[in-house]
Amino acid sequence: MRLVVDLNRCQGFAQCVFLAPDVFALHGEEALLFSPRFDEEQRDQVEKAAAACPVQAILVDYSDEPTRGVTRGGEPHVG
Ligand code: SF4
Repeated sequence: MRLVVDLNRCQGFAQCVFLAPDVFALHGEEALLFSPRFDEEQRDQVEKAAAACPVQAILVDYSDEPTRGVTRGGEPHVG
């Protein structure tokens, strides 16, 4: 499972960091770091973080998961 953060949208509110600290980290005031791949155990945290992001900058991709094959957590990332 993968995720992408649209850094053009991200405002550094850090809700994702509080909800999924294993996946997201803030360095300094605005630089968001994240792991582009996450495990099944982290799925709950990532889904909560994506839902809580006020600008919907977190895009989650389950396409490498055989039973889903759809993008969730917002619009597909284009460009
Ligand atoms: S919650 Fe959204 S806006 Fe805030 S740091 Fe995370 S991705 Fe960026």
